Amino acid sequence: MSVQVAAPAVELKELSGPMDKAAGPPCEPVTAHPPGHGVAAAPCPLPATEREAAPAPSSCSERPPGSGCPGLSSSAAGLPPGAAKVPQASAMKRSDPHHPQHRHRDGNDSGGAAAEALVSPDGTVSEAPRTVKKIQFADQKQEFNKRPTKIGRRSLSRSISQSSTDSYSSAASYTDSSDDETSPRDKQQKNSKGSSDFCVKNIKQAEFGRREIEIAEQEMPALMALRKRAQGEKPLAGAKIVGCTHITAQTAVLMETLGALGAQCRWAACNIYSTLNEVAAALAESGFPVFAWKGESEDDFWWCIDRCVNVEGWQPNMILDDGGDLTHWIYKKYPNMFKKIKGIVEESVTGVHRLYQLSKAGKLCVPAMNVNDSVTKQKFDNLYCCRESILDGLKRTTDMMFGGKQVVVCGYGEVGKGCCAALKAMGSIVYVTEIDPICALQACMDGFRLVKLNEVIRQVDIVITCTGNKNVVTREHLDRMKNSCIVCNMGHSNTEIDVASLRTPELTWERVRSQVDHVIWPDGKRIVLLAEGRLLNLSCSTVPTFVLSITATTQASRVWAEQEAP
Ligand code: NAD
Repeated sequence: MSVQVAAPAVELKELSGPMDKAAGPPCEPVTAHPPGHGVAAAPCPLPATEREAAPAPSSCSERPPGSGCPGLSSSAAGLPPGAAKVPQASAMKRSDPHHPQHRHRDGNDSGGAAAEALVSPDGTVSEAPRTVKKIQFADQKQEFNKRPTKIGRRSLSRSISQSSTDSYSSAASYTDSSDDETSPRDKQQKNSKGSSDFCVKNIKQAEFGRREIEIAEQEMPALMALRKRAQGEKPLAGAKIVGCTHITAQTAVLMETLGALGAQCRWAACNIYSTLNEVAAALAESGFPVFAWKGESEDDFWWCIDRCVNVEGWQPNMILDDGGDLTHWIYKKYPNMFKKIKGIVEESVTGVHRLYQLSKAGKLCVPAMNVNDSVTKQKFDNLYCCRESILDGLKRTTDMMFGGKQVVVCGYGEVGKGCCAALKAMGSIVYVTEIDPICALQACMDGFRLVKLNEVIRQVDIVITCTGNKNVVTREHLDRMKNSCIVCNMGHSNTEIDVASLRTPELTWERVRSQVDHVIWPDGKRIVLLAEGRLLNLSCSTVPTFVLSITATTQASRVWAEQEAP
């Protein structure tokens, strides 16, 4: 019933410290062939066909007495009858541990000079002050009573996992509650039914949140269909789900669907910035114990998770996680809970890597499902989402016109294909670099010009990385770019562009807009760096609700499958 997970490209981040950086030499893009002369296949350590199935990790050896021990295995996740069938992992390239891009992937986004993301009322995500100091999240002593100041809260955010600071929210806010400095933890709030089993910014915002949820429902037909189809049967009766995801209108539709199918849910946010306060209030008003608000401190973050888990007379039997923080909190603080937990549904690649590490260490004692193993989820998240959001991200940050621009896209996988298609449709001249011969061939057949980055770097107007690899754009490339060249990343975290190499005394950084930096060379040449090399679309644009609908439906059907498991 469980599904396979991606192999560990990143170190398991223990709660007590940041993830280690995976070291490894960068892969050279070597896919050049002269336009119109067929593909000069580049050497690639593994052919694409071999990248398809990740081996199932070995079963775990340590388990709480009385519980099953399927660990992470490869199967078609026995979906419950009637549940939306989602194709499984075999076609998922990014699960492959052997492919160079995975070997060089670095899951640590917490280091360097990268800034934190802040969701603004228009849905864009801006950066928190860069002077923040990294504070170690030492030894997990639960001193929840010591609460930092607002500035302190921001500065603490560094040591939370990447997924808790990278935002994936298309959040918009009706009500600006930023002037209310009182911590939600200090407030006594009750919903209209008299319950105080929640902690949100302001329960009075519930009505606005309800409108957001209703709008999201319109774009989430799969989830609504699942709700309609199964709510009579209550297939999730008895399920006690503890969740930790972005608290947005889309998540609210998921939670209310789980509730409609009979589950009991308690929820915290997986990201300290992405919570829509109004939506959290609406959920609390309709009886969901939600512990989340926008701008939590790290202390708040763990406190909220703890309030979901550590409840008298209630114990979860399922985990729905995004990033692995909740799972690891339970694992570290309440390991006995795993005796009753039937399974984990994990949404993020990072979280899956952390689970895989647990599994390898023989410590994962329940089945875990990787939502990314669903081909539909992967296609929507990687291909279609990026096809739409690349233009949005570029437009919002630069107001540029795409027609006639020369663009080089590094990597022609799912994300690269989406970016190329969108830019081509807008009239850009698109070049592609690839290291995989099959993907290179696909780019060629789709009408793109395969090049080496070196060959075009002086002439292009935009450079976009989509490889999942490290140091694809090096300082040497950056030195050779033309004046006003726009550089951005749609692939993995902030490691694809060697941004660190730009932090040298001879270069001047000028922040011209939120998420837009001009990096100026001594001769006056400047490049336009977007989101400091972090994911452009997650930092600077919105993610379509429909994409989140696919993800949420996959999550709900996984929960259902786990509930049905013997
Ligand atoms: P993929 O494996 O389908 O494609 C990556 C491609 O990059 C491969 O074809 C590979 O051969 C190529 N490549 C690797 N190193 C290269 C190099 N040095 N030069 C040129 N090409 C190189 O993966 P994908 O699904 O396209 O995802 C790519 C990255 O984007 C991953 O890190 C993924 O986590 C991330 N991602 C981002 C978003 C987003 O919203 N921005 C969404 C999904 C995934």
